Parts: sequence; C-alpha cells; structure tokens
Amino acid sequence: MLDKSPRPTPVNVPNDLAAHWMPFTANRAFKKNPRLLAGAKDMHYFTVDGRKIIDAASGMWCTNAGHGRTEISSAIAKQAEALDYAPPFQFGIPQAFELASRIAELAPDGLDHVFFCNSGSEAADTALKIALAYHQINGQGSRIRLIGRERGYHGVGFGGTSVGGIVGNRKLFGSLLTGVDHLPATYDREKQAFSKGEPEYGAHFADELERLVNLHGANTIAAVIVEPMAGSTGVLPAPKGYLKRLREITQKHGILLIFDEVITGFGRLGFAFAAERYGVTPDMLTFAKGVTNGAAPMGGVLVRDTIHDAFMNGPEYAVELTHGYTYSAHPLACAAALATLDIYRDEKLFDRAREFEPKFADAVMSLRNEPGVVDIRTIGLTAGIDLAPQADAPGKRGFAGLNSAFHDHDLMLRVAGDTLALTPPLIVTEDQIGEIIDKVAKVIRATA
Ligand code: PMP
Repeated sequence: MLDKSPRPTPVNVPNDLAAHWMPFTANRAFKKNPRLLAGAKDMHYFTVDGRKIIDAASGMWCTNAGHGRTEISSAIAKQAEALDYAPPFQFGIPQAFELASRIAELAPDGLDHVFFCNSGSEAADTALKIALAYHQINGQGSRIRLIGRERGYHGVGFGGTSVGGIVGNRKLFGSLLTGVDHLPATYDREKQAFSKGEPEYGAHFADELERLVNLHGANTIAAVIVEPMAGSTGVLPAPKGYLKRLREITQKHGILLIFDEVITGFGRLGFAFAAERYGVTPDMLTFAKGVTNGAAPMGGVLVRDTIHDAFMNGPEYAVELTHGYTYSAHPLACAAALATLDIYRDEKLFDRAREFEPKFADAVMSLRNEPGVVDIRTIGLTAGIDLAPQADAPGKRGFAGLNSAFHDHDLMLRVAGDTLALTPPLIVTEDQIGEIIDKVAKVIRATA
C-alpha cells in the first residue's frame, strides 16, 4: 500500500554487501534478498525502497517507547557536544550517578547499586563474575559452579553462552566454562497450552535445583541465572510459584539468584521489572535494550546491597572489582537512558502495558485456530505463537520462508525457531494490534 507519510532521507545502498559479516544471520541468503532499513518513526520502520513496515518486535525487544523519539535523539546530540567521551575508570560523569539512582528507584527494594556495561551479553558475564568474586572475598571461594537453564539465553559472551541452554549457540565453541549445570526449561505444552500470563503448572521445575545441590554440595555453587520469561527461545513465562521456589532454595543454600531482565526490564511485562510482577527479589538483575529505548548501546547489573557492601568493606584504595569496560556508563548512553526513563515515567508506559495486556492477549489468542498453530502464550505485551515445524524451504513455512513472508506483508516480528514472537512497542494502539494480528493470520494461511 502506498503511504503518503514523510519518508526518511534516502540512503545509499552499496552494490557489494560482502564486507559486512552480519551477526546471527544467514548471510548468503540475506544478501541475495536483503531487508534494508532506512528510517523509523513511532510504530513503523521504512525500508530503503520506501516501504513502511509495522514493528511488532520493538526492533529486537528494545524500542519500548516507539521509534524516533526526539527527546532521546536531542539528548544524545546535546551530550555529544558537551562531553563526547569520559574515561569510566577513576573518573565519572554526574549523569551516570543520577542514572544509577533512577534505575535503582525502579527496582525492587534492596537492589540499590548498578554496574554499567554496554549490552545484555556483557551484563550476564558481569553478573556471573560478580557472583564468583563475591564468594571469593566472602571467604567462600569453593563456590565456583554456575547454574543456568535449558532454553535460557544470556547473550554470547563465554559466560552467557555457557549458562545459556541453546544447543545451536554452544556447539561451535568448544568446552565453554566448566562447572556449569542447567535446570530444565519450564515449558510443558500438554499442561500449559494456550496460557495467558503466568502458567498455573510448573512451579516444581524449580525443585531440580535441590537435586543439583545434593549432587554437588551447596558450598560449590555460586549462582543460578534465569530469565523470568525466556524470550529468545520462544516466550516462556515462569510458571506461578516457580521463581518464589527458586528464591527459597537459593536462599536456603547461600546461592546467589540472578534474574536476566534484558528483555523483561522496562515495562515489557507491565512493570518496571518482572521481579516486581512475580514478587520475587533476586540478588542481581541484568538489564539492557529498553534502558535506552535502543537508541544507544547500554547494559547493566543491579546489585543487592549486601553484595555491593562486601566489596566496599575491603581496603579503601584498592580497585574493588577488577572488571569494567572502556564504554561503561558512556556519556551518550547515559543521556539516552535518562531521556528514555523520563518518557516511560511521563507517559506511564509500564501501566499502559499492564492495562492493555488482557485485550492484547485476547487479540493474539484469536489466532489459535489458524492452520498449524499448536500453542500460544501471552504475558504483558508479549506473545509467542508456536507453529508446527515444517521444512525450511523458500516460500514454504520455515525460518527463511516465514521471515520473507512477514517482510513481504510489511510486518516485523521475531521468528525464533518454530515460535513467532510478538513484542510491540508499549505505545501500540488497539487498531495497530488488529492490523498486526491480521497480517500474522494472512502469513500463517499463505505459508500453511
Ligand atoms: N539476555 C537476554 C535475556 C537476552 O534476550 C539478550 C538478547 N536478546 C541478551 C541477554 C544479550 O543481549 P545483547 O545482544 O545486548 O548482548
């Protein structure tokens, strides 16, 4: 459909796309039929050939406040002029301290300190390193084992890959970290199919942790890391009671509990953090993506007072944690994040997501009788739609075929294995949800 709304400035498309080795992309197939973007505003992307695409993915779970927010871009531009870069070791910028306080205010009580980095992967590795270091300085250096979960995703660093539970992401990379175990995933299609919000069934999956404690001894285990809702592996919200049980077991055995909230942070589930929705406070909580609305790379770890204070009780002039990044608390990212948090607050976007959740869930569930739909899960402004797996052949249902089909229908969503993930910006309207669901239905029928 021809759209008359303003277009972004045209961008030059090079003839040769070989030099850029794209991440997590089938490069050869992509470059034969590239999906190139040139602009974005509110709920839409614009392609280089001028098509307007509705964004049901918030880019990649990032742009919770919608695209092209001038409050954020002008804050970045102003900051770049005032102070482009400052070394984050042994120097600071006031904005980083302000931002840390503002993020801590949004977090559950007790998570009062923030260690900044640049991505979700760095946040996961940072949290795992803090856990190991904490036990070390706390006189419990035998606690070196880390526990993740099957179908968990914690980025692509060696730590995050090791505790992550996606075979495809691990198999090329050797032995990874030793001393890592995985809890089972929390999904059981038979007992949880077509659930809205937290599934009723599945709290007992947490009890596997007791088995690992029996096997290895509590005094060898440093930390457990889980996503309150596994996002990248198909939108699997933690079942009712599961995270509480994990909290009880970890507390009983002196094991640190880390929530990876890279996706669930900043409103995705209708709260600042999923920890609040589930009523469970972890010892550390990682975030990224939504903290800057995607406009600048930033990640971080919220850390419980007792852990932070243990480091502060060491020798005064020592470097407490021998860890950090050249771009930790980068001035441009801090400016972007402060402007983003203002938007979330002023537009009450987390409340909006919470209030909108039932309507969103009903709209997505209307797809349950489409051909090949075997399950749908919804929570907050997030939905996973499982399709029965089929051969990956162009034009047929399958990863490449689906990605092309959605693009051809001017819709952006995430195709994750056999799951379609819908995660629109929190500014989405009811009409736009309707439009997104219509497009999904069309593609499902066309590729069945
Ligand atoms: N943790 C989770 C839960 C994620 O979803 C992601 C990214 N999708 C990451 C970590 C890694 O984040 P990044 O790509 O910014 O390194």
